[in-house]
Amino acid sequence: MKRSSFVLAAALVALAAVAAAVPQAPKPAAAPLSIRYEELTSPDFARAVAQSGGTCIVPLGILEKHGPHLPLGTDLIDCREISQRAAAAEYTIVFPPYFVGQIFEARHQPGTIAYGSRMMLDVLQQTCDELARNGIKKIILVNGHGGNDPFLHFFCQAQLETRRDYVVYLFEPAYDEATEARLDKMRKTTVDGHAGEEETSVMLAHHPELVRLDRARDESGEDQKRQAGLKNAYTGIWWYAGQPNHYRGEGSAGNAEFGKALLEAETGALVEMIRSVKKDTVTAELQKRFFEDAAKPLETRPFVRK
Ligand SMILES: [Zn+2]
Repeated sequence: MKRSSFVLAAALVALAAVAAAVPQAPKPAAAPLSIRYEELTSPDFARAVAQSGGTCIVPLGILEKHGPHLPLGTDLIDCREISQRAAAAEYTIVFPPYFVGQIFEARHQPGTIAYGSRMMLDVLQQTCDELARNGIKKIILVNGHGGNDPFLHFFCQAQLETRRDYVVYLFEPAYDEATEARLDKMRKTTVDGHAGEEETSVMLAHHPELVRLDRARDESGEDQKRQAGLKNAYTGIWWYAGQPNHYRGEGSAGNAEFGKALLEAETGALVEMIRSVKKDTVTAELQKRFFEDAAKPLETRPFVRK
């Protein structure tokens, strides 16, 4: 061994000894995972799926007029806010704002994007299929748009059409008497439903710069009752008959304090739902059994009285 090599070897041995003696600084903890799907890297997405227990929220809104004073994306913006607040409290992934839904009734108003009915079913189903292919077996639909309600109930029913290895859960807060009584005390108007006191208040609570409160009385949000003569019947034009301005209620009554209370109530209910969805094994099991029975209905055994 040449002297220089010997010195080098000795130095390396000494260094190794020092390295062994000095306690290694703990590795910095991995940065917390974003709750927003689009912000995750691909490797972090895999961690997020594990951390969320294979759950993901799809926040559904729409692009439609919200009276003369609220933004077109009000439902998207509010629904995303509630979803993100809940996900921050109980980790889950929040899908990007989703705006393919049912909004034919506002096609006469500027800014409405109304996709076809088959398309909206297909896009939502394929979104769920793709999430499930990526390990998300519990999909939570959080809807911010009233016009989507029948569509989303039908969508949930249609999950029984063919066998699936995932479950779709629709967020539906149960009626809570104490919460409703507290909110009712804060409420100033009796007619509401679209861009009225509630929605205006919620937007004032988290994005006041998007509210043009001074324009809230530019149009009427009163029910025009143009189908009042029709009894015991439902038609698709019912909303337009009553609310041709695509506005129901009195937006000028909105206030941030009421909005804050509404946001907190919704968020609390969603946190509770996410926790119960994570624990839920019954629904997937029932779904599996149902599809097995549905494949051979003649072999389905009846439940007998105990
Ligand atoms: Zn809305």
